[in-house]
Amino acid sequence: MKRISAEHATCTLSKNHPSVARAVSGETIVFQTLDCYGNQIRSEAIDFTGIQGDFNNPATGPLFVEGAMPGDILKISVLDIQVADQGVMVVRPGAGALGDVFQSSRVKILPVKDGHAVFNDHLRIPLNPMIGVIGVAPLQETPTTVPHVHGGNMDCKRIVKGATLYLPVFVEGALLSIGDLHGVMADGEVVICAMEMEGEVTVKVKVIKERKLPMPLVMAADDFMVIASKETLDEAAHTVTHAMHGFLVHEVGMDTHEAGMLLSLLGELKICQIVDPLMTTRMELPLAILESYGYRLP
Ligand code: CA
Ligand code: CA
Repeated sequence: MKRISAEHATCTLSKNHPSVARAVSGETIVFQTLDCYGNQIRSEAIDFTGIQGDFNNPATGPLFVEGAMPGDILKISVLDIQVADQGVMVVRPGAGALGDVFQSSRVKILPVKDGHAVFNDHLRIPLNPMIGVIGVAPLQETPTTVPHVHGGNMDCKRIVKGATLYLPVFVEGALLSIGDLHGVMADGEVVICAMEMEGEVTVKVKVIKERKLPMPLVMAADDFMVIASKETLDEAAHTVTHAMHGFLVHEVGMDTHEAGMLLSLLGELKICQIVDPLMTTRMELPLAILESYGYRLP
């Protein structure tokens, strides 16, 4: 199985980055990833002046997928996520939704014990490893901190082992990169970091041609969901709702009024994160709905 080392980590997604590995459609690849601080924080007593602040949120890649052309879909099956034996969090004045209340910075190392993050003497939290950054090269070079239609820093907690992600292909080879693993994260990610971890992600990539899907699209457990990132939560909520409705009407074949009613009944509108440069929402629906209409995701 091919492995891409974390030496190949960049802080932008770009069609100009030379690919560091090639895969055929259907191949399985392992991405070794750094944590969002570039593995630079190893102690709670760290002196921030020694940190390379511009090496922020690195993603490993890009992987060139043979046969992927603009207009195609890249299907990424997350076969496994392995994380290290400790994670790190940092809160800082001015950063995130609580930046106004913190007067000083604080670093916290969270050791892993028996599948749990040791938060402090009172609390242990079950790990639920997820991928923060997973994206293809967009047409314009984009920092790995930014989520958008190419994927990127979506911080969607449903992108876990067993999930499948569909992304639009903008450039030949798709140029897939992955990074920013979290051992635990809640919807919102309110202090801009989760339990940040280095690790390894095993994915199977497949090129899908001549299909229309609202993207980014995720299939996880018994749900499928559309993701949208916009400048405000209002815009992101509006966009993701319209994307899901359009899919139900134009691809699945539902009546327009019934599709709207169904989204009010079963469409779970959720917040992925409110701290990256754009806000990310998702709308979740049970996969059983697609089965009832005889529709299958590719
Ligand atoms: Ca992130
Ligand atoms: Ca992160």
